[in-house]
Amino acid sequence: MSTAERALEHLNTLCRVKPNRRVGSRGNREATRYFAGVLQSLGYSVSTPEFDCIDWIRRGIRLTCEGETYLAHISPYSQGCQIEAPLVLARTLDELEQVEAAGNVLLLSGELTKEQLMPKNFTFYNPELHQRINRLLEEKSPGAIIAATSRDPGLAGGMYPFPLIEDGDFDIPSAFMTDLEGGRLAACAGKQTFLEMDAERIHAKGWNVSTLIRGRGADQRIVVCAHIDAKDDTPGALDNATGTVILLLLAELLKGYRGQLGVEITALNGEDYYSAPGEMLFMQENEGRFEEIHLGINMDGAGYIDGATAYSLYGCTETQARRIHECFSSRRGMIEGEPWYQSDHSIFIQNERPALALTSELFMDLTTNITHTPKDSPELVDAAKLAEISLALRDIIYGLDTLFSNTS
Ligand SMILES: [Zn+2]
Repeated sequence: MSTAERALEHLNTLCRVKPNRRVGSRGNREATRYFAGVLQSLGYSVSTPEFDCIDWIRRGIRLTCEGETYLAHISPYSQGCQIEAPLVLARTLDELEQVEAAGNVLLLSGELTKEQLMPKNFTFYNPELHQRINRLLEEKSPGAIIAATSRDPGLAGGMYPFPLIEDGDFDIPSAFMTDLEGGRLAACAGKQTFLEMDAERIHAKGWNVSTLIRGRGADQRIVVCAHIDAKDDTPGALDNATGTVILLLLAELLKGYRGQLGVEITALNGEDYYSAPGEMLFMQENEGRFEEIHLGINMDGAGYIDGATAYSLYGCTETQARRIHECFSSRRGMIEGEPWYQSDHSIFIQNERPALALTSELFMDLTTNITHTPKDSPELVDAAKLAEISLALRDIIYGLDTLFSNTS
């Protein structure tokens, strides 16, 4: 079997797990087991640090007012509810501060629902405005929240409407609907509104999966990572089965590696989950010893059939950067792209370690139309690109190891 054929087999396996790879689900555990199994079959010893998480089941929603039915969706990880209460509205922060919402059904729209709110306990990135809206909502204590939203490619991918709240630590039941439907519902302001949502949070476990090829010389190592989880209701091919597949191809290529620098290959489990549990665990495990990370490499959204592969560098030394540019320019279809921060390489950047990120040149199109939706399927992946990326990464690791050996 050629490398591209093996890439395709890994890809299909990861995209076919049932129900999908959302953290806490059976499919997520199956995917991490598969990843660990492939590494073991290559002769690596594998560690699988475990974390607690919740899985979430949603059954149905009904929203009515004066005999009219409105189309709404339960926010991911929301609690269920059954409530009949007046509808109240807030479109701005001022209105939210003024509104009498206690026990009522609160419809949010306008400037309050432009962006998906970061989960309240999410520490990587949490704008003051999001924290303020979250705090106000909890203080106001509505019986339920309905958010009328449009699109937010930056944080919510290609979903329309997108869930304003996606937070297993937020306990007020919430739903979301399109801005158009929100306009219809707003006419019910002050009227008795009935909302029933059947949903359940379930305690579950998940794992990161990693292997370490120890360096012969020092504690310094290169960490190559990709998130293995996906959003609910998507096969998650480009986001991010492809990154995970590249890790497996690279593990195969590094079987004979005996460098001074260590190499860690890690499937992180949580980039698309509200509390990023795998990422938090990785941070804890590396607390106080991030200096041992020589370079962090992350892949997310790579391997799209159209366009090139785009790489970007963060905080690398000039010699490192030169070596990396050389390796990419000797391969087909690799370009240097714009810096971006919405994925796991931000862990290295925040901890002041050099980083390299790989994605597709058409990343913006993907996040606007494809990722986090059922459209993100293996047909959109060029397996030959995954093989090419794994070869480039092998060259980079060997190249950086030579540099390291010559200078230490
Ligand atoms: Zn992703």
